This record gives sequence, C-alpha cells and structure tokens, in this order.
Amino acid sequence: MLENFMKSKILVTGGAGYIGTHTCIALYEAGYDVVVYDNLSNSSREAINRVSTLIGQTIEFIESDIRDAEVLKQVFASHEFFGVIHFAGLKAVGESVSKPLLYYNNNVGGTITLLEVMAEYNVKNLVFSSSATVYGDPENLPINEGSPRSCTNPYGQSKLAVEYILEDLAISDNSWNLIALRYFNPVGAHSSGQIGEDPNDIPNNLMPYISQVAVGKLDKLSIFGNDYPTVDGTGVRDFIHVTDLAQGHVAALNYLEQRTSSINHSDMTKPVGFLPINLGTGKGTSVLELVFAFSDVSRQAIPYQFTDRRAGDIASCYASADKAKTLLGWQAELSIADMCRDTWRWQSMNPNGYTKVV
Ligand code: NAD
Ligand code: UDP
Repeated sequence: MLENFMKSKILVTGGAGYIGTHTCIALYEAGYDVVVYDNLSNSSREAINRVSTLIGQTIEFIESDIRDAEVLKQVFASHEFFGVIHFAGLKAVGESVSKPLLYYNNNVGGTITLLEVMAEYNVKNLVFSSSATVYGDPENLPINEGSPRSCTNPYGQSKLAVEYILEDLAISDNSWNLIALRYFNPVGAHSSGQIGEDPNDIPNNLMPYISQVAVGKLDKLSIFGNDYPTVDGTGVRDFIHVTDLAQGHVAALNYLEQRTSSINHSDMTKPVGFLPINLGTGKGTSVLELVFAFSDVSRQAIPYQFTDRRAGDIASCYASADKAKTLLGWQAELSIADMCRDTWRWQSMNPNGYTKVV
C-alpha cells in the first residue's frame, strides 16, 4: 500500500496566476506535490509567496516561459511528474485582437512546445484551461460539451486551436490522457483574503470592475447593454467561485489517476483520450443581479450607468454541469453571495492588489 503514501507530483504552468494560485492550494490540500512554472508576465512573486504562507511550506517555483523548451526539459528531467495542469496563457480578448501573433505564439505555440517536451519525457496526463468562449454564441442553453464550437476573436481561436491539437494528439496515440476544462466565468478569491484576481490595468471583466468601484478606485460601472432578451435586459453569465474551480482541477487529476492506475484493472484503465468538461454552476446570473448582490454583501454603493452593448458580447451563457458531476464527481458548492463576499474581502484587504501591500 506504499502508493497511498506517495504524493503525485504535478507541474502547474501559469501557477502564479489567478486560477493557478487557488489551484495550487487545493492541490496541496488534496495531497499533491506541486511545481509552479510561470514567466510572471501577468503575475507576481508575491502571489507565490502568499501561496507558500497559506500552505505552510515553500512552493517550488521556476520563473520561465513555456516556449523555452530547454528550461522545460531541465524541469522534466529533474522531476518525476504524474501530469501537468496547463494554465499558462494570455487571456485578454481585446489585446488578442490587436496582437494576434502574440496570442497564437504564446497560447498555441507555447502549448505545442509543452506537449513536445511532455512526449519526450513520457508524461502524458494533461489538464488544460479551456473556456466557454469556445462555444461562441450558443444555440441552446444550458450549454453541454457536445455543442458546436466557434470563436470570433484570436484569444478564443487560440483556445479552440489547442483543443483541436489535443484531439488530434489523442487520436494519434492513445497513451495521452487530455482533459480540457471549459471554464465559465471564474470570480471570487481565497477565503483568507490573501490571494485573488489582480488585473494589471483597468479591469475588462465584470467582477473586478465592480469590486474596484466598491473600493473607490473607479467611479462607476458601465453596464454594457440593457436590451438583451434576458431577465432584466443585462447579460447573463455562469459565475463560478475560483475555489470551486480549483476543486474541479483536483477532481480532474483524481480522475486521471484512477483511469491510468496500473493497480486498478477495471474498465477505468481505458485511455481517456481527449475529454472536454464544462466547469460551471449551471446557473445564470445577470449583470444587474451581480451588482445588487455585491452591493448587499459589501454594504457599498455601486454606481452604474447603462451604455451600449460591448462588441462581441452574447446575451446569455451558462453551463450544463452534468458531465463534471457524472464523470468527476464534482459540482460547484459556493453561491453568488460567497463569490461577492470573498472578492470584497480580497479587494478591501488589498486595494492595490499584490504590488503595494507587504
Ligand atoms: P492569469 O493571467 O492570472 O494566469 C495565467 C498565468 O500564466 C500568469 O501567471 C502568466 O504570468 C502565466 N503565463 C502566461 N504566458 C506564459 C508563458 N508563455 N510561459 C509561462 N507562463 C506564462 O489568468 P487566469 O485567469 O488564472 O487564467 C488561467 C488560464 O485559464 C488561462 O489559460 C486563461 O486563458 C484560462 N481561462 C481563464 C478564464 C478567466 O476568466 N480567468 C476563463 C476561461 C479560461
Ligand atoms: N460587463 C459590463 N461591464 C463591464 C464588464 C462586463 O456590463 O465593465 C458585462 C458584459 O457585457 C457581460 C458580463 O458583464 O455581459 C460579463 O462580462 P465579462 O467580461 O466579465 O465576461 P465574459 O464577457 O467573458 O463572459
């Protein structure tokens, strides 16, 4: 029964980022060993320091780019990884429109380099950060994993391109086990208030914008459109607490471990291939509903104005979360109030994110 005492080691690319830091904590709590690999292009050492403080041990951190095959090879040569959770990527939709080559190079090129090195070192278990953006403007709601995929911007195309690459890889060689987790709208922060989302500039996304209005850094929220065919005319999204999302990654790894375990001779040992899974709550919340919930929890006024729709936005998007429940035994537990409370705690404890607070 030695296996029970041996921790599987996981390489976490992009582990210094928003979702990566929360997932590192969840992985430690679940008994995994973690090595973080990040070029800090959209994150900071302080985030890693805080993760180390929260878990009570120094996290192993390599500051490097996933496009640097030589460094990656050294890392794979010096560790025995069970698998990789691959968060590293650029994620700003607007920037991807103005810098498409950067996005394809980083998100697609970087993933190819990572996969090549994984193949060389025979590490063939991967959990990839995909996105609900691959569904484009969905024909049916809730969105299930069989829905058609289409994207309208280079960021989304880069996620879709990686999904196609993973599918082809699984077809070419059935020893690969590749899970693409399609996140809906991750929000919230660690319940300690020590780690959270730290956008570089003025936030593009709704929740960090609301919280910066609440804390007084921004004057008022612009709500992009109040004439959508939704409950109150504003956009509807499936907001999911980042802690639930992090647990979804642990569940995906547990699933891969069961499916690839040589001691388990049941049906579970069949190859996983390429497996896309939604991570969402299954519930839609409108922009206005989120604003009111945040205001309630924080007891702050959130001034807002209605403006034109934002180009490229869709009316409604929420997940069917059945596949994650059936296959991974995972479902989101935390409420919209929890998401607002934890975002507010992080924002008010760290009004300037990681940079200005010791
Ligand atoms: P984030 O920017 O906070 O984290 C990404 C991390 O990857 C950062 O720490 C960044 O420094 C690192 N990175 C980027 N390019 C790299 C490279 N070439 N080499 C090494 N490190 C690199 O973003 P996040 O919100 O934590 O998102 C994580 C992943 O999930 C991304 O792939 C993103 O596209 C995807 N995703 C995010 C959302 C969301 O709303 N946050 C939704 C769907 C999918
Ligand atoms: N939104 C808004 N004002 C903002 C940012 C976002 O009204 O400052 C709306 C946006 O139009 C969408 C929802 O909030 O209906 C979620 O937007 P976000 O950018 O957070 O996520 P995504 O568009 O990727 O789902």
